[in-house]
Amino acid sequence: SDRVETLEFQAEARQLLQLMVHSIYSNKDVFLRELISNASDALDKLRLESMVDKDLAVDTADLHIEIEVDKDARTLTVRDNGIGMSRDEVVGLIGTIAKSGTAELLRKLRESKDAGTSQELIGQFGVGFYATFMVADQVTLLTRRAGQSGGTRWESTGEGTYSVEAVDEAPQGTSVTLHLKPIDTEDNLHDYTAEWTIREIVKRYSDFIAWPIRMTVERPGEDGATSHETQTLNSMKALWARSRDEVDEAEYQEFYKHVSHDWADPLETIHMRGEGTFEYEALLFLPSHAPLDLFSPQGRRGVQLYVKRVFIMDECDALMPNYLRFVKGVVDAHDLSLNISREILQQDRQIRAVRRRLVKKVLATLKEMSAESYRTFWAEFGAVVKEGLLEDPDNTEALLDLVRVASTHDPAELTTLRDYVARMKDGQSEIYLATGESRSTIENSPHLEAFRAKGYEVLILTDPVDEVWVERVGQYDGKTLRSVAKGQVDLETDEEKAQAEGERKDYAELLTWLSGALADSVKEVRLSSRLTTSPACVVGDAHDMTPTLEKMYRAMGQ
Ligand code: ADP
Ligand code: MG
Repeated sequence: SDRVETLEFQAEARQLLQLMVHSIYSNKDVFLRELISNASDALDKLRLESMVDKDLAVDTADLHIEIEVDKDARTLTVRDNGIGMSRDEVVGLIGTIAKSGTAELLRKLRESKDAGTSQELIGQFGVGFYATFMVADQVTLLTRRAGQSGGTRWESTGEGTYSVEAVDEAPQGTSVTLHLKPIDTEDNLHDYTAEWTIREIVKRYSDFIAWPIRMTVERPGEDGATSHETQTLNSMKALWARSRDEVDEAEYQEFYKHVSHDWADPLETIHMRGEGTFEYEALLFLPSHAPLDLFSPQGRRGVQLYVKRVFIMDECDALMPNYLRFVKGVVDAHDLSLNISREILQQDRQIRAVRRRLVKKVLATLKEMSAESYRTFWAEFGAVVKEGLLEDPDNTEALLDLVRVASTHDPAELTTLRDYVARMKDGQSEIYLATGESRSTIENSPHLEAFRAKGYEVLILTDPVDEVWVERVGQYDGKTLRSVAKGQVDLETDEEKAQAEGERKDYAELLTWLSGALADSVKEVRLSSRLTTSPACVVGDAHDMTPTLEKMYRAMGQ
């Protein structure tokens, strides 16, 4: 009919689908987790919308997820009576990948030649709905948005195109029907119409889902007849509300994957509870790898906010500062209004108190992590954590203790500031550091010569944020953080000073002449003790911008 339109997937979506159809990911079972996760999100959204919008005519008495199989037709359907999608939402959300970092992911996938790396990348990205094409050669989605009258039918084989059709009759919510590929145990394609397979997958990946996941099962009845009964497959226990010793590691890991959309395990789990004037429970996670959109303004961030088990919002940035935007999880605050808006949250005194406690706990957890985990953590998120030195003056000290920097002391290891201080030479009163684009540019710069010649250790800072925090923080443990490229660095003994004074007199005429000749380019020409092999170098004033910073501002158009 003319109500059926055939549309093309967005280019990025098509490429990702290709990977799913040709199935480079070995654990195919996770498709069900993704469908259940989406259904659960849709139910959360509907409950919230019905509470906020009293005019929304929907029945929320029995919100649930349903799994149905047809062994003969070899189909599996996951159905929810959640928020549903409008036609435009279907096209925008299913036909397109809005996630930032997609292009980056695809580029890395093209570059990676071995299957292991590709799997890891897919795992980091989390392909969501498209995971269905690992196990199905055709997927049909029927949906009706809560509050709307007509529905939408979407269908695709995961190749280049999909069809959308307006339908008059559709139950509210969404059902996704998979036409399953043939069973192939060697390729990890199990029998997804078998009751026990489904039970096992639901138990393993989705037990904590807060909505009932139901399935009608067949049981032998009397006289050889079969009877049918509907069972709930999950225990529905909100993980964060349970005590720590009641939850095992696997449950934490699956819950993390649900809230983070990550397919990899978390690096660290933080489960805490606040009692007293403001009660809350928090279950937070530190991921094991940085998402591709970590530095993108559209990147997913923050934690989810619940009020007494009711989902309120995703990406609640009022609960976590920007520099901890990689922390994932759930905070359940007991005494908030369900109607609370993002704007009000930012101002709320109690939320701010909770946030302070969460930040302290995250920083303390980082401090206590094993050396090995922390090395992984720092490599992935160190550049973000250092932003905290600009944003969060209350925690400067804790943050400085978390900082790891490269140093001339040991090219293979990062050092703490504390260890640097412990190694400072007798009479050394400042912490020497050099900033630049890379370790090799810094090591080859003439600024380092005198320091190296005299055996001083210099910290090597190569993240763009480094210059800014060094400037802002100024000192550590009472010792000035001194850039070797700035101002006059006093490395001379008294004897050397006397000698230099003599030399300054000897070269006075040359210096005056050079100052005149270079007047357009430099402020002053000085005789220096900082060089040992290079004849000259350009230095900045103590308060000047360093070259990297100058470049950064120029790049920002300032
Ligand atoms: P993600 O869940 O990470 O956003 P998915 O690929 O799993 O990515 O889903 C894409 C989007 O499609 C979801 O964010 C949601 O808006 C929409 N969606 C998927 N499944 C459903 C569903 N059952 N009900 C309503 N919306 C859905
Ligand atoms: Mg999803």
